[in-house]
Amino acid sequence: MKTTRPTILTATLFLLTACATQSPTHVPKKDMGLLWVKHAADYEAITRQVYRNAEMALPGMIQDKSWTGLPGQTGAEDLPPAVILDVDETVITNVDFQIAFERPFANRKLEMWDREHTARPVPGVVEYVAAARAAGVTVFFLTNRPCEKYEDEDETCPQKQTTLESIREVGIAVEPEFLTLALERPEWTREKLVRRQVVGETHRILHVIGDDLGDFLPCAREKVVAPCDAPGTRASRREDLDTYANYWGNGWYILPNPMHGSWTSVR
Ligand SMILES: [Mg+2]
Repeated sequence: MKTTRPTILTATLFLLTACATQSPTHVPKKDMGLLWVKHAADYEAITRQVYRNAEMALPGMIQDKSWTGLPGQTGAEDLPPAVILDVDETVITNVDFQIAFERPFANRKLEMWDREHTARPVPGVVEYVAAARAAGVTVFFLTNRPCEKYEDEDETCPQKQTTLESIREVGIAVEPEFLTLALERPEWTREKLVRRQVVGETHRILHVIGDDLGDFLPCAREKVVAPCDAPGTRASRREDLDTYANYWGNGWYILPNPMHGSWTSVR
């Protein structure tokens, strides 16, 4: 639980709780995706497996200076190594929020939930980050949580501090320069390719880890955002699996998320 903004938070929590009380069936009772993430040990087995495999791949990729997990990155042989992690359902598990919040989703609902609750890690991530850092690898966190100014608050990007604190709550130390949010700068859109390339200007990217194809692939989303000029579709996303076939399990590690993601909006 974060320590700031108690008055607004308490009021918001009350409203959320009131809504939940009035609509006890707002989460489909048989939402198998939510139930699986919440209750199945199998989910945790997979996340541990993903992070362990990623960790085991680190030494070889550190040593092989010709390796990069960022397609198109060149001249990176002498750059310091880094890995890029998404945040939600990659570092932090939001399943309790997903179960509790009143539909439809809004970024502010997650923000308020986050301020009131202690974040929990996706199993395996804490150990992976520790191993990467012990090996001299810098860890960057790229989230599509957007910077949004709220009319009733002074800060221009309160989501930055909340997200930093949540990452710290799961047991991972992080400084602001290693976390980027969507719209933190005008050019940092939800198309994460832009920010991956920014990291790639100063670091050799060993790994990309996320739970959404958009964490890895350019133009995987339904909404067209520069530099993309066409929407991602179910067909284009499947084609991209083949285009980037060499990376899956080999620099790119994807975690399961049946609860939400860009896959829900593409056609
Ligand atoms: Mg995510």
